[in-house]
Amino acid sequence: MTDKAETRLFVEQDLAAGQSLVLSEDHAHFLKNVLRLKEGDVVAFFNGRDGEWYGRVEAMGKRQATAVIDTQSRQQEAEADIWLVFAPIKRARIDFLIEKATELGASSLLPVMTRRTNVERMNLDRLQAHAVEAAEQSERLTVPLVHEPQSLDALMASWDSSRNLMLCDETGTAPPIAEALADAASGAWATLIGPEGGFAEDELDGLRKLPFVRPVSLGPRILRADTAAIVALAVLQALRGEGPRRRS
Ligand code: SAM
Repeated sequence: MTDKAETRLFVEQDLAAGQSLVLSEDHAHFLKNVLRLKEGDVVAFFNGRDGEWYGRVEAMGKRQATAVIDTQSRQQEAEADIWLVFAPIKRARIDFLIEKATELGASSLLPVMTRRTNVERMNLDRLQAHAVEAAEQSERLTVPLVHEPQSLDALMASWDSSRNLMLCDETGTAPPIAEALADAASGAWATLIGPEGGFAEDELDGLRKLPFVRPVSLGPRILRADTAAIVALAVLQALRGEGPRRRS
């Protein structure tokens, strides 16, 4: 197949040459009414397991579309193992945070309730849909899972200590991120961002005592939680030596 696919869709089904896909109603609507694709047009598909494949739209109905998978355009490859642990924030900002964290390669998104978290409810389906869209747009081969919220204490109690936790500490007492992580950016990591009101002092004290926690400063200014998440992930990826974009 020589045509280039302008559109990427995340699907749950297995992908292999000759496989026929029945697309969801949302995908059918998107291809037909938003992109105005026709039968025979090429779309790229990925499912987080089988790499990326080109397929052709086979039939386009009012509510349903089918596609046939043709050639593999990218092999599945390992992605950085970086979790984003964050205290939930208000709607527009949390949507932005999920989108940007996905673009920046976070492998898991874990909301945690801290002492000063003041957002209690989240629509996980909406957040997961943002992660899917961002993965499609950014040419990722996986979609990070948005987990059920849990308390910070519960997450720390069950933490696998082989995963480093970068604590984004705005109090001015932590070393700058580039210095703190200079010799240690490889392996499994997570970054922890506090709520808009910041961490409580005793919460920070408890976190700093945990053997897997590395407190870092993101600079002398106080950043919004969503900005802090972007900076933390971008710098961590850079320090891990993330390479350039790879195309098939
Ligand atoms: N407690 C702060 C205040 O009201 O002055 C605000 C907290 S800030 C909006 C939210 C979170 O972003 C913080 O808990 C921290 O995790 C992260 N953060 C913001 N600026 C930071 C910085 N300069 N260094 C490290 N982390 C930062």
